[in-house]
Amino acid sequence: MTRRRFETRAIHDGQDPDPTTGAVVPPIYQTSTFQQSAPAEHKGYEYARTGNPTRTALEACLASLEEGQFGLAFASGMAAITATAYLLSPGDHAVLPDDVYGGTYRLFVRVLERYGIASSFVDMTDLTRVEAALTPKTRMVLTETPTNPYLKILDIAAISELAHARDALVVVDNTFASPYFQRPLSLGADLVVHSTTKYLGGHSDVVGGAVVINSKDIYQTLKFYQNAAGAVPSPFDCWLVLRGVRTLGIRMDRHAANAIAVAESLRDNPAVTRVFYPGFPEHPGHDIARKQMSGFGGMVSFVVRGGLESARRVASSTKIFILGESLGGVESLLDHPASMTHASLAGSSLQVDGGLIRLSVGIEHVHDLVDDLHQALAKVR
Ligand SMILES: *Cc1c(COP(=O)(O)O)cnc(C)c1O
Repeated sequence: MTRRRFETRAIHDGQDPDPTTGAVVPPIYQTSTFQQSAPAEHKGYEYARTGNPTRTALEACLASLEEGQFGLAFASGMAAITATAYLLSPGDHAVLPDDVYGGTYRLFVRVLERYGIASSFVDMTDLTRVEAALTPKTRMVLTETPTNPYLKILDIAAISELAHARDALVVVDNTFASPYFQRPLSLGADLVVHSTTKYLGGHSDVVGGAVVINSKDIYQTLKFYQNAAGAVPSPFDCWLVLRGVRTLGIRMDRHAANAIAVAESLRDNPAVTRVFYPGFPEHPGHDIARKQMSGFGGMVSFVVRGGLESARRVASSTKIFILGESLGGVESLLDHPASMTHASLAGSSLQVDGGLIRLSVGIEHVHDLVDDLHQALAKVR
């Protein structure tokens, strides 16, 4: 039999009907402990930090969607990234993109550095810089593509090759693309991490994270850390993410179709000076995106003529796009990075353009979304 397709696996993998009741949807096993068959001989679930059937269902489904062998679910995306960072030891070095997710930057600089783990942040669109950053102590290259907020595209296969030549592990944060559009393990990565808070959950009603791995050794190590450190998701949160995952394919198709229409209409608006969308042929990462992604995602960024003041005006004038951080939900969100998600970069070399606006394009009717943006942009013309 041929391998089942993505949409089928999203609905069925890890989610067989409950063997005792026939429940079609895996139940929320709201219990902290499980009856054991006999002291010291028990093989099943024991204590819910260590394992819970609702979590097992989610972990199996996510592993399948990323075309990996093993999945592990966490209480947040940052908990998942922290767990992968436990693979590093004092004296080790990691290389990350200079525009990596802010929380990941904070973890490496403010927390891991205190434990003797050094890191370098480089522009990974330039492979010579990636290579130059690798040292004999580099044990991990953590990358993320498309990046935030400029939606740069990084070449996962090429970065993996450079890292593997130095025996460094490759971790890809696949939150922005989701496994529907991009599967890093098949491109050479060793681990995939997710904030399931975003597209996988998809409804802005849960915070969660996940890691998917092919290596059994790494899986067993991370499973040990998952239990040892204890940042596990609740059964209800696992159930919510799994509920979201079942519609991932149709949601991503609509997010991407709406994003391209929004991006194209913004390009024609005189109040907009630049639009960043990897689906545009003139986007510098377009060819790599075409090679490693099967769709360009639902995120669009653009620069408003007139800079900071104009952008703030637009950001407070939309009626459907909700001003807020996060992304990946069914509803459209608008972020002003310079004053919100990326405010902490002010004054640094990574400071973002004050006129930049980042959109998480939702799945509302595209005409309503386009109309909303243009009425807001009319305020600054
Ligand atoms: C949101 C996000 C995270 C962190 O995930 P949380 O669930 O908020 O902890 C990590 N990486 C990326 C790319 C994100 O967008």
